Amino acid sequence: MSSDLVIVYHRQPYEEVEVDGKIEYRDNASPNGIVPTLKSFFGRADGGSWVAWKQSDKERPDFDRVVTINDSFGEYRVARLALSKEQVTSFYHVTSKEAMWPILHSFKERYNYDPVDWPTFREVNWAFAEAAASEVSDDGIVWVHDYNLWLVPEYLRKIKPKARIAFFHHTPFPAADMFNVMPWRGEIINSLLCCDVVGFHIPRYVNNFASTARSLMDCEIVEEESVRTEFSTHGMALSEETVVTQLRYQGRDITLSALPVGVDTDYIREVAQNDEAEKRLAHIKEELAGCRLILSVGRTDYTKGGLEQLQAYERLFERRPELIGHVRLMFVSVQANRNMVAYERVQSEIEEAVGRINGRFGTFDWQPISFIGSKVPFTELVSYYRAADTAWITPLCDGLNLVAHEFVAARKFGNACLVLSEFAGAAVELDEAVLTNPFSHRSMDMAIDQALDMPMEERQARMRRLKEKVERLNIKAWGEGQQAVFDKIKKH
Ligand code: UDP
Repeated sequence: MSSDLVIVYHRQPYEEVEVDGKIEYRDNASPNGIVPTLKSFFGRADGGSWVAWKQSDKERPDFDRVVTINDSFGEYRVARLALSKEQVTSFYHVTSKEAMWPILHSFKERYNYDPVDWPTFREVNWAFAEAAASEVSDDGIVWVHDYNLWLVPEYLRKIKPKARIAFFHHTPFPAADMFNVMPWRGEIINSLLCCDVVGFHIPRYVNNFASTARSLMDCEIVEEESVRTEFSTHGMALSEETVVTQLRYQGRDITLSALPVGVDTDYIREVAQNDEAEKRLAHIKEELAGCRLILSVGRTDYTKGGLEQLQAYERLFERRPELIGHVRLMFVSVQANRNMVAYERVQSEIEEAVGRINGRFGTFDWQPISFIGSKVPFTELVSYYRAADTAWITPLCDGLNLVAHEFVAARKFGNACLVLSEFAGAAVELDEAVLTNPFSHRSMDMAIDQALDMPMEERQARMRRLKEKVERLNIKAWGEGQQAVFDKIKKH
């Protein structure tokens, strides 16, 4: 059986649970997040398929390669690729995370080329391409997600010349002088130019891709447009006035799209404002005992700027000692997979800074920072979004940042402030936030001061405009935007 829509994403689209020795496939607990969003496309296509990996150290894996799932999104197939532990480590933890991730986020100095085994990266991408090819109908759409599958389009084009191939980047895409550090640059760009559509969150990443492609290949820009009205056009770190929408390479046209993923605003409103959430909120407020809550939520990753933020928090008490005992920082920094060498140092630097600040300013009954290192369930997180006085989101580089959108969507009242890094993709949409440059102490200090001192009227006005944007750019709008792009490439 072949599918008209095949989604290629490294994770399986369900939770696999063993009950009485039998495997059950359960819908993901939270409908918030990328997997349920992608699955919702199966509701639009007849008989969709999903391709993912599953680790197996056996020559003959003891699981069914293809399973049929019937869940709230309808019936679809999942093709599982058996990868060995060594393949996963090499392709994912080393090549993707140690070499590509730092380049994508413009951290040249963190780029670690030595342990990369490129033949394994190719081999794994080839396996994904073969699995996708055996699922897709002759002119169906294969939608490939994220940089660890960069080589899939070229291989797939060889096997299925007529397939429609779309690719979406969930990360930033850097400028050419950064991207071209990688010795595989030509091979990656050549593969992406085998797509019918290459998608990104924001115009800056599209334009970076177009200029990188033009620096390496003989390709031309055939179409360029003014950016959508939701995007800020001037004066910010990531703003662009125009965006490339079509490239031509070897006689083929490649559509480029800038569609920022949004959040499920209906769902967030529901879980943030139901009875259980109200009770949790009352409890949190009681715990805060009149302190103002500053909330920071992210993963432990050098790109998220956790250490720089903690240093800014320490300076806040040095600058304004009257705040000691009156504000609290809830610092959620979800620890990375232990296999990732790249994250060990940042983890210990953060732990050290938290210890220092709590030791320096804390008292018996007040701690400046509550540090949480493991994932807070989303239904609980929304109550902290509601309890916060200020959400403090200051990554050094971030593809988009969904936490910023979720915070705005969860708020019932407009009495809170969002401080957002200019280097998060979300800043070009959410420019009513207090924007800050995390590379500047002065800018970080001014932004947190501005947020804490902001009059209620201004907070409310900004939040009202933020809410309108987050609603307009929600996950439904993203889905509709993607569908429009697919319809366009189908007509060709
Ligand atoms: N998240 C969560 N619990 C936590 C921390 C984060 O559920 O303790 C979720 C958060 O709600 C958001 C996602 O993890 O949906 C993080 O997405 P974001 O785009 O902000 O950052 P990423 O981790 O993708 O770089």
